[in-house]
Amino acid sequence: ELYNKVLELRGNIRVFCRCRPLNGEEIKGGATMALDFDSAKDGELTVLSNGAPRKTFKFDAVFGPQAEQADIFEDTVPFATSVLDGYNVCIFAYGQTGTGKTFTMEGTEEARGVNFRTLEKMFDIIKERQTLYCYDVSVSVLEVYNEQIRDLLVPGNNPGMSARRLEIRQAGEGMHIPGLVEAHVDNMNEVWEVLQTGSNARAVSATNANEHSSRSHCIHCVMVKGENLLNGEHTRSKLWLVDLAGSERVAKTEVQGDRLKETQNINRSLSALGDVISALATKSSHIPFRNSKLTHLLADSLGGDSKALMFVQISPNESDLGETICSLNFASRVR
Ligand code: ADP
Ligand code: MG
Repeated sequence: ELYNKVLELRGNIRVFCRCRPLNGEEIKGGATMALDFDSAKDGELTVLSNGAPRKTFKFDAVFGPQAEQADIFEDTVPFATSVLDGYNVCIFAYGQTGTGKTFTMEGTEEARGVNFRTLEKMFDIIKERQTLYCYDVSVSVLEVYNEQIRDLLVPGNNPGMSARRLEIRQAGEGMHIPGLVEAHVDNMNEVWEVLQTGSNARAVSATNANEHSSRSHCIHCVMVKGENLLNGEHTRSKLWLVDLAGSERVAKTEVQGDRLKETQNINRSLSALGDVISALATKSSHIPFRNSKLTHLLADSLGGDSKALMFVQISPNESDLGETICSLNFASRVR
């Protein structure tokens, strides 16, 4: 039975690759595209060197620079449905800083991202199902920085201020974080408020918000309790929406002190995540959840019959090709 469960797992991990467009500055500077998206609809992208094909990668979906937020979300909808069906779901954005992780997950007011759209879809489905099911939804927003967990829904909970650290406890089958704020939400207006509170807390707490956000993981956890009104059956599930720290490699010789520790923690948690997902995909009997705070948090929501989606975000610019290939290799390993 265990073997069957593990076998199915392979089908529960999806990898979507998304490439941002060249930006104004890059175009002005005459940057060249190092990627070919001619076979994107077949889930393929080709890395070019000096304009000639060098290597082709295949993923569950490939979104080129022209893809819009709505296109990406169309393929993400089944995950929203799964959460309400009682499955745990994790959606990650992985990649070098500046490749659109936050754009994909958070988006902007005019071009809403996966976080908002998934919750919106969930509330639509809840409405459709209201004669058969009753749902209770709450949201937590947290950040993992330097292997410390911080609650972004607690006002003034800034690093250096009331630096109350949250810890992970095992509670029966699941994970529990004593003291973490769970904001109950009944509609999308309330969701929007919670999302704004979370991103504002992130922005004001750091002297350099952009740098800070590239070195921390920003995590939304949506907790769903469902009740089938016909047979009284209960479900409990979680949706994790994770905007990961930047995956760029930093030469050890370039950084010292706090910055070195920070870099090591990022490398540790991203490689722990890669190890966990590939252990799940290759049916390994030992899943190394405890190697980082990030994977420990997600331990009850990865594996089993949960579903995971990884967005690997990349830059089209030839000058980013080294990092792009690292990200594509990471994502291939996960798949
Ligand atoms: P990251 O979070 O990976 O560091 P961001 O999401 O902040 O990257 O994106 C960097 C910049 O590129 C932002 O100004 C963002 O709006 C823009 N951007 C990223 N992806 C896209 C896209 N697909 N279409 C248009 N603009 C994008
Ligand atoms: Mg970002």
